[in-house]
Amino acid sequence: MPEVLTAPLVVEFPFTRSLGPVQSAFLTGLRERVVLGVRTADGRTLVPPVEYDPVTAEEIRDLVHVGSTGTVTTWAWNPAPRRGQPLDTPFAWVLVRLDGADTALLHALDAPGPDAVHSGMRVRVRWAAERSGAITDIACFEPYAADDGDDSQVTVHAGEFEDPVTGIVAAARLDYTYSPGRAQTAFITALTDRKLVGERCPSCRKVYVPPRGACPTCGLATSEQVEVGPRGTVTTFCIVNIKAKNLDIEVPYVYAHIALDGADLALHGRIGGIPYDQVRMGLRVEAVWADDSRYPDHYRPTDEPDADYDTYKELL
Ligand SMILES: [Zn+2]
Repeated sequence: MPEVLTAPLVVEFPFTRSLGPVQSAFLTGLRERVVLGVRTADGRTLVPPVEYDPVTAEEIRDLVHVGSTGTVTTWAWNPAPRRGQPLDTPFAWVLVRLDGADTALLHALDAPGPDAVHSGMRVRVRWAAERSGAITDIACFEPYAADDGDDSQVTVHAGEFEDPVTGIVAAARLDYTYSPGRAQTAFITALTDRKLVGERCPSCRKVYVPPRGACPTCGLATSEQVEVGPRGTVTTFCIVNIKAKNLDIEVPYVYAHIALDGADLALHGRIGGIPYDQVRMGLRVEAVWADDSRYPDHYRPTDEPDADYDTYKELL
């Protein structure tokens, strides 16, 4: 049996979020080296602030300025920081109850090792040199020895700043090591020879492309390999009008479900070589490989007449 493939796979996208009045004041405050919380109707001070009381669901708008020193309530040592974490040397994740607050804020604590960290220790904010209105404006917390205790001084704050931050872009990123498994490894390997190979169910005889290694209807493992395509029929499609980052394709373009000849499952691919508004159900297409590509770059129309609906109606 050939070796099963693995490869790094990164799923990454920018998440744009508007902030609303409370989070806007909180993040703009950080830019100005001011930590703001909110005060609830029953007098609790929540840091980080929330827009609605977690107990009563009442809207909260009363901002208060709390201390930039606080107490570690609990912690965990992070021996191997990952990309994008607050520090690139080992550090502690800490919950810090800032002086004057009743709740704790999650952040990083710069400490030489786990022996230097304990619940109840006093810490203070280390501000980032460059601040833009983000939680990273707090670079981290650091141990604070010159302690004058928790004076719990909380002052009312209007939350008004010049040039407030009204939105943030948070990069979401997931790092995987992806293994496609035995069946898709065979599919990918066959693509190297520009062949599209599926697997047939031993019971219902359906051919799955790309193969998943089992028939989802019968629950049986599949192993018989069947070459399909390279021609097929557009069963259904959509017109894409939003340009994807890192994808050099002009919009609008068509993305379609394509039932390759001999397959009992439609796969999806881009349709090229035809104006987007002329693509239709039943259009006959064939795979087109780019020179250096290991998989079909797109599918283009053949010169055949359209397929009858009855030939692909079970594959929609
Ligand atoms: Zn089956």
